[in-house]
Amino acid sequence: MSFKQFGFKSQITNNINNCGYEHPTPIQEEAIPKVMAGKDLLGLAQTGTGKTAAFALPIIQQLIDAPRGKIRALVVAPTRELAEQINQSFIELAKGTGLRTVAIYGGVGKKPQLDAFQRGVDIIIACPGRLLDHLNNHGLKLDKVDTLVLDEADQMFDMGFFPDIRRILKHLPRKRQTLLFSATMPADIRKLADETLTNPEEIRIKLEQPLDLISQALYPVSKRQKSALLLHILKKEPTEGSTLVFTRTKYGAKNLAKKLIKAGFSASALQGNMSQNQRQNALNGFRDGTFSILVATDIAARGIDVSLVAQVVNFDLPSTAEAYTHRIGRTGRAKRSGRAISFICFDDKAMVKAIERLQGKSIKRINVDGFAMAEESEETPKQTRRPARPQHKSKKKLGQRRSSGQQQKRSDTKGKAKAKTKTNPNKSSSGNIFGLGQK
Ligand code: AMP
Repeated sequence: MSFKQFGFKSQITNNINNCGYEHPTPIQEEAIPKVMAGKDLLGLAQTGTGKTAAFALPIIQQLIDAPRGKIRALVVAPTRELAEQINQSFIELAKGTGLRTVAIYGGVGKKPQLDAFQRGVDIIIACPGRLLDHLNNHGLKLDKVDTLVLDEADQMFDMGFFPDIRRILKHLPRKRQTLLFSATMPADIRKLADETLTNPEEIRIKLEQPLDLISQALYPVSKRQKSALLLHILKKEPTEGSTLVFTRTKYGAKNLAKKLIKAGFSASALQGNMSQNQRQNALNGFRDGTFSILVATDIAARGIDVSLVAQVVNFDLPSTAEAYTHRIGRTGRAKRSGRAISFICFDDKAMVKAIERLQGKSIKRINVDGFAMAEESEETPKQTRRPARPQHKSKKKLGQRRSSGQQQKRSDTKGKAKAKTKTNPNKSSSGNIFGLGQK
């Protein structure tokens, strides 16, 4: 199948060629004609399938002859990095069309975003919090939007964004085209789909990730020896290419990146407590090879397209077997072989079973001399925990913050504060684990 059959305008065809896309991916084959026919769409698909171009190309085609300067398409995405990534795709695919796009997210100044609205934009790619801020406080209007895309809906749900999404929906015309993409389809996502979509076409695309190209191994280890084991493996078995390490917590990511930098690796953390500049620097540095190791939390890393990862390390196992498959799918892309290693502790036994059941096979265990799994459940020793931060009296107690989404949003606000006080976001310092590690 070729892109010709879609009948894209010549500028778009040139841009597709310049991006090096020879054939549509399966999701593009299925989605593009449906979106071009004006249908609502429910897409079960994840990053890596080519889904961004699957919605961006028909949107650009629809807008190419429309009057400029009115917001006609809105894409809502869970993370700033994903919003930025989608914006870049729009910029590349809309070159020469005169269409203007802007990415809208927190953790950075509002002025450039307000200036962009002032100049006139056609397509907005936004995270929910800052978009609502502009709607409520800066007179942003979305009443001319023809097409709404809700991307990575399940992650937006996990992050506690659904109330915000419902508020945003009130600013949109009822008569519009809506496309909703999600990697999974639990009941809450289905409910949102029922509320927002009209007679949608449904497509399901599996990430064509031949898991057999990925060599998987489980390393039994005690919790307190995980960092030492990672350093041991990185030194003894260096890989050609980059390593993406997943930790469960933001603090864990920050702390581990610090240890890796101290041990002489070029590493950076990517987690929600970092300012937007720091996050973007970390991601760009990982993409261009400045950092060979990125230590990330799921929330920060999901949806991000980083190709050519040689090795994925589950420093902490994820909370679902499906998330394990998503994580390890970051390696072994483009028909290259990849390696996925996971540290497993006593308390991970049930999750290991679930992962092996999902894959229909057992994964090999590698026991490393000097490292062994504890023989009973391990409580994190108190002294290795992050010391409690002094609480401002007016702040809510920790127990009152319920969802990870709420925490993520909190960190967005903190990011803003940090960005304001920071003198030089690009400053490189091995002591600053948010920033650049030594090469
Ligand atoms: P996405 O799932 O949208 O994050 O896209 C994953 C990657 O696939 C991105 O790096 C895209 O540039 C790339 N891509 C999208 N469509 C195609 C295509 N038709 N052929 C080759 N690569 C593509």
